[in-house]
Amino acid sequence: MAADRFKEKTVVLSGGGRGIGEATARRFAREGAEVLLIARTGSEIDAVAADIGAGGGKASAFAADVSDPAAVDRAVEAARDRFGRIDVLVNCAGIDHDSPFLSFPDDAWQRVIGVNLTGSFLMAQRVARVMTETGGGSIVHISSIDAYGADGNQVAYNASKAGLLGLNRTMATELASHGIRSNVVSPGYTATPLTRQYVGDAMYEYMTKDFDRIPQRRMATPEEIAAAILFLASDDASAITGSELTVDGGTTANLYIVETLPAG
Ligand code: NAD
Repeated sequence: MAADRFKEKTVVLSGGGRGIGEATARRFAREGAEVLLIARTGSEIDAVAADIGAGGGKASAFAADVSDPAAVDRAVEAARDRFGRIDVLVNCAGIDHDSPFLSFPDDAWQRVIGVNLTGSFLMAQRVARVMTETGGGSIVHISSIDAYGADGNQVAYNASKAGLLGLNRTMATELASHGIRSNVVSPGYTATPLTRQYVGDAMYEYMTKDFDRIPQRRMATPEEIAAAILFLASDDASAITGSELTVDGGTTANLYIVETLPAG
């Protein structure tokens, strides 16, 4: 592993308080970056930033709701003041709401689209404006395999994650001339607090060890998603923009459903 791919680089990362965002922030710091964590829950990102600092890395935190344009303005301004430039943005903040389509509440639709899609747009636009003035950069959005195939009862989540693909392609097309790359990482099932909150103990254990829907038979770890994010953010991916990298243990490649059919 190249241990210093991000030496002297600055990274802004939304949703770094736990799960995939936390693992990604820790990996960026290990590879030499200075990281600003942005999430709604200040106590979580304060703790992650302090722990990274205690381990010799460079990280700080700024509490902001990414669905609020004024809060995003303040967060990106803080990043510019602190760093002078922004080399990398990772849009990782995300929420879900489970409800059947026919009774899906309007306010839940607005909230999920507001954080996952509008929040990613706001962060990307504000950060890209800074990047255009400081020589370019790399932006990675975190979508989901739910952008390609629907998980039931979560229409707003699925639509928001599919919407990110259009946001990504548009940004790649419009921003290449400014030296800005934009890409998507689409995780499959990943062992994080978000996943944990939707399943019981036995199911979580099964998904971790013997998940027969997935060719690799297990969820990914947050660290495995982080590795893909850092690749796309790094100069190793210098000719990659507008792309989508699926990290799902083969889930979306697998149409083999025989094991789920009734026996006999
Ligand atoms: P998580 O719930 O563990 O963490 C989400 C983070 O987003 C937290 O730090 C939280 O504070 C932050 N956040 C939520 N709302 C916010 C807001 N309005 N403003 C700022 N920050 C906010 O989630 P995770 O499982 O680590 O997922 C991270 C991303 O990966 C999400 O976009 C999620 O949709 C996506 N994803 C997760 C999985 C999975 O299986 N866990 C699969 C595919 C995609």
